[in-house]
Order: sequence, then structure tokens, then C-alpha cells
Amino acid sequence: MKANIVLLPGDGVGPEIVAEAAKALKAVATRFGHDFEMTEHPVGGAAHDLCGDCLPDATLAACKAADAVLLGAVGGPKWDALPPEKRPERRALLTLRSELGLFANLRPAKVWDALKGASPLKDEIVARGIDILIVRELTGGAYFGEKSRSADRKSAYDVTPYSAHEIERVARIAFEAARRRHGRAIAPRPGRAVAPQPGRAVAPRPPKVTSVDKANVLETSRLWRETVTALHAAEYADVELEHMYVDNAAMQLVRDPARFDVILTENMFGDILSDEASQITGSIGMLPSASLGTAKGGLYEPIHGSAPDIAGKGIANPLATILSAALMLRHAFGLAAEADAVEQAVSDVLASGVRTADIASPSGVPSAVSTSEMGDAIQAALSGS
Ligand code: NAD
Repeated sequence: MKANIVLLPGDGVGPEIVAEAAKALKAVATRFGHDFEMTEHPVGGAAHDLCGDCLPDATLAACKAADAVLLGAVGGPKWDALPPEKRPERRALLTLRSELGLFANLRPAKVWDALKGASPLKDEIVARGIDILIVRELTGGAYFGEKSRSADRKSAYDVTPYSAHEIERVARIAFEAARRRHGRAIAPRPGRAVAPQPGRAVAPRPPKVTSVDKANVLETSRLWRETVTALHAAEYADVELEHMYVDNAAMQLVRDPARFDVILTENMFGDILSDEASQITGSIGMLPSASLGTAKGGLYEPIHGSAPDIAGKGIANPLATILSAALMLRHAFGLAAEADAVEQAVSDVLASGVRTADIASPSGVPSAVSTSEMGDAIQAALSGS
């Protein structure tokens, strides 16, 4: 297939890790016969230094026209003194999310076999397997509702609005993602041809969505539960659906994470639960994310920031960005076999003992590789060399 991918390296370690993800995408294109056209555009503090705007019009236009966007990270101390609305995080990230209509955030949290020791959970819990996808609603709820403080500043409120439409569209993404994770047939995203997906491993358990709410207390949660239940009955009866209160979900994530497959939840609950889930896997340098919505293919980025403390040293772990590229292949292009190949390459390279400093053994043996050496190892694994 042919795809136009916009690369936004951004700040700090962003350019270093995006370069390695681009290498992996090139290796995938060569191996599977695709034509990925990749163009870089400035964003974040780097763009501010160039033209005084962290999200130049040309960058935004390129993102809107792209089939998918891969972002490194933005921000850093150099731009912390800018007015809030001009800072990289707000001007670039929040504007991109709203302009591209990215209403669903997907965060896989998985413990890689070779890195099991890095999880803070007990060995017997990790041994049962941790492979969860959190689907968080990203543009509604308390974060976007009306908020106010009384004149005497002694009381305040944040309204948590949700419509059935907002709930249904993110629930649909969760059900589709659950099917994808288990190799079921999927409907193509609008306007996009989906390639056949040979070789996708079929997981032994049926796809399952756990919808997390607080329906015993909140009216928005009752609407959430009704809407998810109705959509499930109408279109996704092949996917198992369970409902769980958010307090119980927070507890089960550390007590028995193996019970989860896909977790679907609203904005604030998802913010908290996705951070909790990411921590049980052990390393921030390994965790990718996808933001999907009305834009054609979505935006893909590691969950970590620009890591200014290690920028320019060539030691950042590029795997979260490479795994974000795998999410792009799966969710933007429907290329499941290609996404599996990237994830398999990561698994194989880790199993062979190759480590960047953040995931290296404390003894320092074997010695850690650089960012580009890790990228080379993934490229070689993908190329079969
Ligand atoms: P951070 O995620 O950048 O770094 C936290 C710690 O993790 C640091 O010690 C860093 O060295 C380490 N780390 C992060 N990514 C790593 C990698 N790939 N390999 C190895 N180690 C890695 O968080 P922070 O220090 O709080 O934020 C730094 C800047 O990034 C701030 O300006 C912040 O606003 C911005 N930020 C941007 C995004 C984004 O672009 N999406 C997200 C979070 C933070």
C-alpha cells in the first residue's frame, strides 16, 4: 500500500527516537512491499525557535493531509518561560489533538518476556501475563466541561458532560480494537482499504472489553453503561463485555492484571488508570500510544516526554516510538501482519539481550547499546539479516 506519513520529531530526544522509528518503517516497507512516503515537519520548541510558533500552519496542514502522524515529544526547559498558550505542550499537543479530532487514546501496557523483572508486581502475578489495551475517551468529561469558582473562592465545580454520541464513538474503537487483538475480521476505517492479514496469531481467549465507570454514583456513568451495553448488543455480541466500577478496576490492575484485555473508560478515569497500568510494566521507554478520531489515520507517540536530561547523548530508548509505529501500522493502515512483525522484532531483540541504558541490568553486563544501535538491531531483525 501507499501511505503518506508525517514525522514530527519535536524536542529533546524526539529527533533521535523518531529517526529510529523511521528506520523500522522503511524496513517494513521493504519487507512487505509498501510505499511509505515520510516527511518531517517542525513542531514544539524546535518550531518556535524556527518561526515563533510551536505549531506552524504548514505543520498542521501537513498533519491534516497525512494518512498518519508519528510524533517524538515536545517541550523542555528552554521553552518553559513562554506564556502558557504558546508553550509546546499546550500550543502543539492540545491544538493537534483538537484540530485532528482525536477523541480516543489507546495505550497498550504489556510486560515483555525479557523484561519481566522490571515490573514492580510480584513474580507470580507477572507470570500470569500482562497485556492490556486501555482505550481512554480524550475530549469529553470533566476536563472539558464547564468549571467555575465562587466569588469568595471557597467553592468550585467541574461539570462532567458526556453525550451518547461521544460514548458510542469511543466504545466502537474499543470493540474494534478488541477484535483486532484477537485476529477477528474488522471493518476498514472510512476511505481506507484494509490488506489481508495472514499470520496474525489468534489469542486463545475471546476478545473482551471491560467498561469502567462509577455507575453506582454518577449519572454520566449510568449513561456510559447504557450506551456501551446497547452498542455491544447491536454490533459486537462476539466480544465479551463486562462492566466494572473504577475503584475496583484500580485494585484489580495490581491484584490480577491478567484478567484484563481491553479496558474502555472515560477521560479522567482513563488518565489515572492508564498511568497505573503503564507503571506495572516497568519502563517508560517501552510504552507507545495511539490517538484516534475523526482524522484519517490518527497520531502515534511514545508516552514519555522529551527527556531533556538525556537529549543529545544517544542513549534514549527508541522502542516506545518504534512500537508507536507498530500501532500506526495496525490502526491507521490495517496492516496487522506488519505490526506483528515489528512487535516480534522488539521481542526478539530484547530476548537476545540487547538493551538501552534505561532497561539494562544494574550490573551493566552486557553493556548498554546506543539509541541508533537499538534501531539498527530492530531494522536487522525486521530485514531478517
Ligand atoms: P520525560 O518522560 O521526558 O522524562 C522522565 C524520565 O524518563 C527522565 O529521567 C528521562 O530521562 C526518562 N526517559 C523518558 N523517555 C526515555 C527514553 N525514551 N529512554 C530512556 N529514558 C527516558 O518527562 P519529564 O522530564 O517530566 O518531561 C520533560 C519534558 O517533556 C517537559 O517539557 C514536559 O512538558 C514534556 N513532555 C512532553 C510530552 C509529549 O510530548 N507528549 C509528554 C510528557 C512530557
